[in-house]
Amino acid sequence: MSPRLLTALLGSALLLTAVGPATAAPKAPPTKAPALKPGVSRADMALHQSILTLDTHLDTPEHFARPGWSMLDRHAVSSDFTQVDLPRMTEGGLDGGFYVIYTGQGELTAEGYRFARDFALRRAVEIREMVAAHSDRFELAYTADDAVRINKAGKSFVYQSIENSWPMGEDLTLMQTFYQAGVRMAGPVHFRNNQFADSSTDPRGKIWNGYSPLGLRWLAEANRLGILVDVSHASDEVVSQSIALSKSPVVASHSGARAIYDHPRNLNDALIRKIGESGGAICINSVYLAATPTSPERKAALEALGKQPDFDTLSPAEVKAWADKIAAVDKLHPPVRANFEIFMASMLHVLKITGPKGVCVGADWDGGGGVEGLEDVADLPKITARLNAEGYTDADIAAIWSGNVLRLIGQAQAYAKSVAK
Ligand SMILES: [Zn+2]
Repeated sequence: MSPRLLTALLGSALLLTAVGPATAAPKAPPTKAPALKPGVSRADMALHQSILTLDTHLDTPEHFARPGWSMLDRHAVSSDFTQVDLPRMTEGGLDGGFYVIYTGQGELTAEGYRFARDFALRRAVEIREMVAAHSDRFELAYTADDAVRINKAGKSFVYQSIENSWPMGEDLTLMQTFYQAGVRMAGPVHFRNNQFADSSTDPRGKIWNGYSPLGLRWLAEANRLGILVDVSHASDEVVSQSIALSKSPVVASHSGARAIYDHPRNLNDALIRKIGESGGAICINSVYLAATPTSPERKAALEALGKQPDFDTLSPAEVKAWADKIAAVDKLHPPVRANFEIFMASMLHVLKITGPKGVCVGADWDGGGGVEGLEDVADLPKITARLNAEGYTDADIAAIWSGNVLRLIGQAQAYAKSVAK
């Protein structure tokens, strides 16, 4: 990490606000209203548009460095596998969300920590660069109130979160560095155990029985700074400890119900209840909704294509060529997929346990999310329509779409303020 990069990371908040208004252009109204999605009435769409909406898990920053890829262009899953961009956010009435700084787990060594730290800082810079490049359409959000303010200004709000705190290594002062860069939500761990906590999916089983001693300090530092604690991916023990020890309520930014699909990444009813009772919320994931086995024929056909190329090195045409090859395999050997009905079953199950104050939306877009009937963010009005049909009030639906998460951001920051010296 060069000093220049760090300066860019920490110093450009002022620059962004300075250039924002000068380059701001009024948001052009859509020339033609997009067709309503199946099951979505005009009234549902009007309700959806009137509600502030956010998704807590957008892995879209993974695409920001792709050559020729822009958040302002309309893309398609079928052409480049992406699920989020501004045109589709507008069509799906998605006002903003948490953009994820995700680092895949590697070695717990000094070298591994350095690599992870620099990777995560670079990803934070890429988010910042995207916002700076389109400052008339996007704005970084730091407080709970920012979402409403930015939305009123006709822009899309961009919160930042950390998925996997491996990049902090053993240097917890980095939490403050990321906080200053704008991170307002963080989870300790991902698919594998790390220096802070046990994962729900490490094949070697647990090593800490919850948080490690350093992990407990991570949790305290997240609270002190006002970073919302995210328990998705953590082991059941870590979830329980987080609920018990965190000074402000926790969130599961992209999780589902084990009662719908028995997978360690999902939460059992007891933990769902505990999160809800402690004032936290579970943002419903569109991954781990059902077993989706790959047939031997499909596996062989995919393997015959060779290793997936690094999209960061390919032109859009080259990515499309790869997408066409995958589409040909899909046609011959269709993948087994979960669908919108199961996604809604997961949401309605959690709603029954926690009530509408304990549910939010985090579908893992661009990170493996998307099911049949809920393919990208353009399909989001279907969720509002379904909640409406299930009898949830407009206020409930608004809480699910953003109110609960904004409340949690506010509570995390209120605690930090109460202990600030
Ligand atoms: Zn994840």
